[in-house]
Amino acid sequence: MRGHLTLFLTLLAACAPDPSATLSDATLFEGARLILGDGQVIENGALLVADGRIEAVGTVDQVIAPEGSTVVDLSGKTVMPALIDAHAHLGYEGYTGWGAQYYSRANLIDHLERYAYYGFGAVFSAGSDPDDLALELERAQASGEVGGARFVFGAGMAPPGQGPNNAFLEHVRTVTDETGQTVLRGAATPDAGRAAVRDIAAKGIRFVKIWVDDRGGSQEKLQPPVYRAIIDEARQLGLDILVHQQSAEDMPDLLDAGVAGFLHGRIGPSLDQRLAARIREADAFVVPNLGLGELRGERVADDPFLRETTPEGVVARLGAAYDARPRATAPGAAAAARERELREGFMRLVEAGVDVVLGTDAGAVPDHYFGYAGHRELEIFVRLGMTPMQAIEAGTRLPAERLGLTDMGTLTAGKSADFVILGANPLDDIRNTRSIDGVFLRGAAVDRVGLRRSWIDGG
Ligand SMILES: [Zn+2]
Repeated sequence: MRGHLTLFLTLLAACAPDPSATLSDATLFEGARLILGDGQVIENGALLVADGRIEAVGTVDQVIAPEGSTVVDLSGKTVMPALIDAHAHLGYEGYTGWGAQYYSRANLIDHLERYAYYGFGAVFSAGSDPDDLALELERAQASGEVGGARFVFGAGMAPPGQGPNNAFLEHVRTVTDETGQTVLRGAATPDAGRAAVRDIAAKGIRFVKIWVDDRGGSQEKLQPPVYRAIIDEARQLGLDILVHQQSAEDMPDLLDAGVAGFLHGRIGPSLDQRLAARIREADAFVVPNLGLGELRGERVADDPFLRETTPEGVVARLGAAYDARPRATAPGAAAAARERELREGFMRLVEAGVDVVLGTDAGAVPDHYFGYAGHRELEIFVRLGMTPMQAIEAGTRLPAERLGLTDMGTLTAGKSADFVILGANPLDDIRNTRSIDGVFLRGAAVDRVGLRRSWIDGG
């Protein structure tokens, strides 16, 4: 079965998508458990795909394929919508190293392909890309010239010369200088903030990422009168504001001003029940972003799921870097207390009904890897108290809704055929999102074997 499927996927990958394809070119994927992404599951399901779109979804009895359709038997498999990472920073990771020297269009595409390999259909790059290059890449992808996970980005804004973490900021400046394009827009006054938002809107960019953080006193923090003006202008122009914030005390005023979502949610006890209810009431979402710190404490180089896409030389470097890092071994009781605090903070959001959305901050620091980090984040969500179904929705339907990806996020007729075929059921164990047998984006199989080979041999 596996060999047969792999052969089929390989053959399909070799066929260029034909925009003039008709229903007779339809493919029926039948017999799998379908996790729709909206909380529903169909056992013994059928998914009819044509022209890169989902034509029909139902049980095998309900979905009738047109004559001449290709039929793929997926008995024993599980199909779920492609995942979406709502917080990442593409372009700077080079796998042998990290920084502005790796930033290029080709590297952005490599990162989109790495996401696709790991079953992701889209990724939001949060405020660290040169805007003309990013817009061109969006267009190239929409026209089918570039594949991989769908690239969505936001323009970055902070006080002049501020924003990303201090190490990252240096590299963002270098990319700015080398491309001659705008990456960060500095807003010193409310009027400057409004003007910058108008400039962003005029370019056709749909999201603005703002930083509201003094980075432990090392940076100037975006002040309320300025961010209120930025958010107000953005709302008038139909743009969404996503905010980097690390402190609960900033959140109520940002909610009142009208932010769409928060890109950090590891806030601690100060994000209390009252604040969680307020986030819910304002219909803002939260990307908890829990794995960034946590995976540093693990020897991820030992994980076969990461090693699939990582050359031996990089694996060895990662292992050595981990071994050289000083680690405080917290006593068991302290570790347990920390875990309890983390769980309570996370579940306050979930229980308040806040949309908790998958996002990883992958690429913001060295060795925090695209796609891999997303699966690990889902594991953390479940460890802290979400059901696997809730975690899957956090990684599919919710980020699609929040990023305006109206044709993604669920297995629904009319949506883009972006889905993952799994060998094992993630509702039994969320780690089964790793058991990827195939990834389809826009109805075409991602050539995972070829990609893996290029990464391993190319390293
Ligand atoms: Zn970030």
